[in-house]
Amino acid sequence: MRAIRFERTGGPDVLELVDVETPMPGPRQILIHHEAIGVNFIETYQRSGLYPMKLPSGLGGEAAGVVTAVGDEVTRFKIGDRVATAGGGVGPGAYADYSIAAAERAVALPDTIDSRTAAAALLKGMTTEFLLRRLHRVEAGETILVHAAAGGVGQIMVQWAKALGAVVIATVGSEAKAARVRELGADHVILYRDQDVAAEVRRITGGKGVPVAYDSVGKDTFEGTLGSLARRGLFVSFGNASGPPPPVEGRQLMLGGSLFFTRPTMVDYQATTEELDTSAAALWAMIGSGQVKIEIGQTFALAEARKAHEALESRATVGASLLIP
Ligand code: NDP
Repeated sequence: MRAIRFERTGGPDVLELVDVETPMPGPRQILIHHEAIGVNFIETYQRSGLYPMKLPSGLGGEAAGVVTAVGDEVTRFKIGDRVATAGGGVGPGAYADYSIAAAERAVALPDTIDSRTAAAALLKGMTTEFLLRRLHRVEAGETILVHAAAGGVGQIMVQWAKALGAVVIATVGSEAKAARVRELGADHVILYRDQDVAAEVRRITGGKGVPVAYDSVGKDTFEGTLGSLARRGLFVSFGNASGPPPPVEGRQLMLGGSLFFTRPTMVDYQATTEELDTSAAALWAMIGSGQVKIEIGQTFALAEARKAHEALESRATVGASLLIP
């Protein structure tokens, strides 16, 4: 089978398409034949070395397809089942024709969810699910700040937050992306490359600031996010698209108005298979009801993984990106 590998960290050009042996599942594992592979920003951190990996390595954490082999002890799935994984893959990484997953870390796909939608939505949608419903429970009428709102996670967050009745202040990097997030329901849009985010948020909220801000951009938005929070507000730092944010000092949180700061990652909000299944079910329900629509903004052949990374890192993408084997 074909798989993307990298032997050293660096730019997109370190990604190579190679032929490898198709892996066999262990007793509690399944083999998935991929129909679509999700591309996520975290894979650029792994490729660049920001999140160190043992090298040489495969890459990718999200794929959807059909089970083609099961280990002896697997009862959760059988050959022919349609499944997806998001962060549950064991090897060689989702950027491949097949991957191995622990059976208890894969989810079944309902008939209504096709493989492309699943690969575009599962990781980004379950991230949204824990951020809006569990890390903090977004309430109807609450005003929230969502950065990079036209991106893969961002688009789902805007729509899900609107479904919960929130007022959404969205930030984006271009006029075209601004138009897109308005269509998705964002109430206010800030062009954060040109406008002062904190000043705009204060203006929109009558000086109060927001009770919660979701920041996946990191370095470039850190100050603006901090300055946008209301008294006792919550800073959710969940990504580093522009580079890691600076260290947070307790004093900054005090001066900002007794603020809270958290740095969550999805694995800790899906620590059990039950949490995984509940999170996925909530996502399928949001998609099924039409409240969350999944935009697949870009598709690339598996062999074009480099191009997919270049597009993502140059801010040229909207919605989700897929690799198609
Ligand atoms: P996106 O599709 O959102 O792509 C990233 C976006 O970030 C870009 O399109 C761009 O939008 C914006 N951005 C701002 N500054 C930069 C920069 N300097 N370089 C590149 N992009 C920049 O990616 P994903 O949906 O895959 O992921 C979104 C974020 O969520 C990532 O930071 C990711 O790591 C994080 N994440 C965290 C998880 C967790 O568990 N903690 C789980 C899943 C995702 P614009 O042009 O509008 O500025």
